[in-house]
Amino acid sequence: MYPGLLDLYGDSGNVEALRYRCAVRGIDLEVFTHELGDEKRADIADMDIIYLGGGADYEQQQLAEDLISYRKELSDAHKNGTFMLMICGGYQLMGKYYKDSNDKKIDGLGLFEYYTEASTDKRDRCIGNIVVEAELDGKKYKVIGFENHGGQTFGSDKPFGRTLCGNGNVRGGEYEGYMEERVIATYLHGPLLSKNPLLTDYIISKCTGIEQLKKLDDSLEERCRDILLKRLLK
Ligand code: GLN
Repeated sequence: MYPGLLDLYGDSGNVEALRYRCAVRGIDLEVFTHELGDEKRADIADMDIIYLGGGADYEQQQLAEDLISYRKELSDAHKNGTFMLMICGGYQLMGKYYKDSNDKKIDGLGLFEYYTEASTDKRDRCIGNIVVEAELDGKKYKVIGFENHGGQTFGSDKPFGRTLCGNGNVRGGEYEGYMEERVIATYLHGPLLSKNPLLTDYIISKCTGIEQLKKLDDSLEERCRDILLKRLLK
């Protein structure tokens, strides 16, 4: 949803990563977009996955009202097991509210209990590389990304992972994001999915119901990850 507004740090690349890893396995992936101002209402109920990228305070303000008009459809989709992936600004808007750096409160969808508040000191931001240890179907996986947020998120009772490097939900915090089996909300840009192929496959598995996906040659990605992990976790 809103790829024109929520595409910080190339977050739309997450859709490309899903598309690529589906295509090489012969899995059809059809992408529907909903933009602010679209006359036709988005068909939320028919989707296997809903995706929102990150955006700055200004973009979040612009689209909040439109997003809230989809509260019922998105809440039903969540209850029916539609996968939800949300990055940074999108993550914040699915919670109760986001109080931005001008002290302006933007109502969120309230799908989840967490809420986010930014300091009014605009320089007070969590910026830099981040590594989070998440558990995907019982297996620990180091998720690599980049964070840049003023918002500090409180009340995430089911974090996406433990912060190994960087901040996460709050400055100097121990945990990052929010996760349910079919929900991932995280501050990690990257784009997240191209840097973390196993996470992409976790999502594809949940969306398609295919438990054993065909293995792909990820040697280049793994080499890149090894270099980054060595650099970031020293
Ligand atoms: N505007 C939000 C913040 O600064 C989200 C920014 C983002 O999506 N990177 O906290």
